[in-house]
Amino acid sequence: MSKAIQEETVLSVRHWTDDLFSFSTTRDPAFRFLNGQFTMIGLTVDGKPLLRAYSMTSANYEEKLEFFSIKVQDGPLTSRLQHIEAGDKLLVSQKPTGTLIQDSLIPGRNLYLFSTGTGIAPFCSIIKDPEVYERFEHLVLVHGCRKVADLAYGKQVVEETRDNELIGDMVRPQLRYYPTTTREEFVHTGRITELVESGKLFADLEIPPMSAEDDRVMLCGSPLMLADCVEMLERRGFAEGSQSAPAQYVIEKAFVEK
Ligand SMILES: Cc1cc2nc3c(=O)[nH]c(=O)nc-3n(C[C@H](O)[C@H](O)[C@H](O)COP(=O)(O)OP(=O)(O)OC[C@H]3O[C@@H](n4cnc5c(N)ncnc54)[C@H](O)[C@@H]3O)c2cc1C
Repeated sequence: MSKAIQEETVLSVRHWTDDLFSFSTTRDPAFRFLNGQFTMIGLTVDGKPLLRAYSMTSANYEEKLEFFSIKVQDGPLTSRLQHIEAGDKLLVSQKPTGTLIQDSLIPGRNLYLFSTGTGIAPFCSIIKDPEVYERFEHLVLVHGCRKVADLAYGKQVVEETRDNELIGDMVRPQLRYYPTTTREEFVHTGRITELVESGKLFADLEIPPMSAEDDRVMLCGSPLMLADCVEMLERRGFAEGSQSAPAQYVIEKAFVEK
């Protein structure tokens, strides 16, 4: 039987900016999860496990696990985790959980994935899920960051998914990717709520405006982004869904303010 916390081996690490990095590890074949879920991962510190919630960015059919992480300079875990190298050990809880589950949404036309910062992590596994392309006409992945460099990991995952040998043909026509910045000039700028309220998002993508009747939404980002998006969605008639009562949107925190 598999242990509650498994020790995996770090396979690769890539630093994207001074504040962001991604890494892959081995995966216990017994570790099963739904795309969009998170688990507790971490390091052994002073003989004890130091764990934090992390979304898997790898899909549930991939051999390796992958994660996308912030570096909080005085953060108990990430002040250490940012120094990991290939060959190091990573603790991975074998009990994944989370609310960004397709079954918590009623069927619809387009699925909007709204994220800020590391909040794109769960959507990296969802956009690799063949089932989601069967359920929805389009996936609209919106990733908001302060700077252009913060978008790089998400951009790479989108490009690799579009080029994927097995699912690329499905992904290319159905996945719409909309990166946007708030503190630097870029092809798209502005907050997600502004882009929706002004209709710019839909005009740029040449898709019909979002509606509670037809469309579904998943949210993952900072506490402020979530509060603003929830207010906007509820005002437009969207209701929050759960596995026992599926509805029009679901929400997960990308991190908790302490
Ligand atoms: C459901 C869930 C899923 C998560 N998934 C991820 C993930 O995939 N990738 C990831 O990097 N983090 C994720 N987090 C946050 C993660 O659990 C830790 O908070 C983070 O790794 C920092 O740990 P720490 O011990 O260094 O600092 P902590 O003491 O945990 O955090 C210190 C402070 O840093 C800030 N902070 C923490 N995490 C972030 C972040 N991701 N972005 C911006 N500011 C942050 C907050 O202000 C927080 O109060 C998730 C959190 C939750 C609740």
